[in-house]
Amino acid sequence: MTGHTLRVELEPTGLDADLSELESTVQLNVRRFAEKVLRPVGRQLDAMTPEQVVAADSPLWQVYQEYTRLGLSLTDIFELPPVEQARLMSLVFEELAWGDGGLAVSLGAAMVPSMVMHQMQRHDLLELYADRPLGCWGITDPDHGSDMLDGSGHTRHPGVGHGRLNCYAKIQNEQIVIKGQKSAWVSNGPIAQTCMLFCGYDDGSGEDKRCVVLVPLDAPGVSRGLPLDKMGQRALPQGELYFDDVCLPLNHLVAGPEDYIKAEQGVLTDANALMGLMWTGVARAAYELAHQYAHERKQGGVPIIQHQNVRYRLFHMFARVEASRALARRAVLFNSVAPAPALQGSIAAKITATQTAFDVASMAIQMHGGNGLTREYPVEKLLRDARASMIEDGCNEMLAIKGGSLLAKA
Ligand SMILES: Cc1cc2nc3c(=O)[nH]c(=O)nc-3n(C[C@H](O)[C@H](O)[C@H](O)COP(=O)(O)OP(=O)(O)OC[C@H]3O[C@@H](n4cnc5c(N)ncnc54)[C@H](O)[C@@H]3O)c2cc1C
Repeated sequence: MTGHTLRVELEPTGLDADLSELESTVQLNVRRFAEKVLRPVGRQLDAMTPEQVVAADSPLWQVYQEYTRLGLSLTDIFELPPVEQARLMSLVFEELAWGDGGLAVSLGAAMVPSMVMHQMQRHDLLELYADRPLGCWGITDPDHGSDMLDGSGHTRHPGVGHGRLNCYAKIQNEQIVIKGQKSAWVSNGPIAQTCMLFCGYDDGSGEDKRCVVLVPLDAPGVSRGLPLDKMGQRALPQGELYFDDVCLPLNHLVAGPEDYIKAEQGVLTDANALMGLMWTGVARAAYELAHQYAHERKQGGVPIIQHQNVRYRLFHMFARVEASRALARRAVLFNSVAPAPALQGSIAAKITATQTAFDVASMAIQMHGGNGLTREYPVEKLLRDARASMIEDGCNEMLAIKGGSLLAKA
């Protein structure tokens, strides 16, 4: 139990009481990388054009080089016992996004093909593509957004069909042939080496069937659109992928129609839980900046932290960050150790953390007064980044409907 002397200053991740030596070391190393590389490079990329962000001389490549040097391989993490895996992933992804939300998403999206191959036990493909670690997840179509994350139809309008997809794979002459396109929202689309493609499965029946294919993006027939220009997470390159009769060996089919829902729900469960961790990190960054500014800014003859209402607001920011962290880590841990993961837990973590990041970033701007609106201070970027997170990986409203459907008894 607690003693009589109260703790005044907390560590950056607040109420962490039980980190092992390994966890503390990893957390510190990733924090250093986030502070020295992700944060300054993220601000630099934010001010550049999307074309400059993906150019050969872009500082983006420094991020990937130095991240590799950290030695955080997914294969090594997956070899740890489930509880340790969950705890380490939780620490790492919060720190990465504390450095920069868009870059953390880029590093996370790069892992999606490996994550799905692990989930679907495709060790043959993992080995085949071990030298191409920069991946992406292609699921959103130009004509299908949130609904692509709901293959089981939980949120579908009653009595209305789903409509034709924009990208299909079919089996022809013992090969997979892919035709169509994915939307401009594919994270890492302009730079990825592989894509875990979630698309239609055309077996000639006309029925709505789907499949998952691993596509090396240097395959003949693959082309890319221009990198997308957007309001937030500008450090994260995004763009269309086009498939013009792309032919691949049959072993690149990672999930056929019978396994599609398992693959889709698996990746959404992991991705939403990771979003919970990451946007907790962004919320924390906003809280820390507001905390620092409140001590530095003198107004009315005193640092503004002396005003009671400033303390009240800071306290609520602190409490929101802690609550978001607790839920995100709990969802990640549950999904690692339970016999079956809980998508509703991951969705709760994603919605809570992204809303928290947005609200706390907005409160941080308010704390900075007029300065908060200027590009000279970093808080306006946090608000723009957080705004995009409420749409990313499924709009929060649609995810909540899906989560609610999972709570309803059959
Ligand atoms: C930063 C970022 C990164 C992304 N990364 C990727 C990626 O790596 N790969 C990829 O494939 N995609 C990616 N996306 C796409 C993302 O998953 C989609 O943008 C998202 O699913 C929403 O689709 P949409 O934009 O077409 O909006 P829509 O689905 O068209 O939604 C528009 C509006 O309608 C509402 N709505 C839609 N359906 C329902 C419903 N059933 N009930 C109630 N309201 C509904 C929504 O809430 C929203 O307000 C990313 C998006 C962003 C912003």
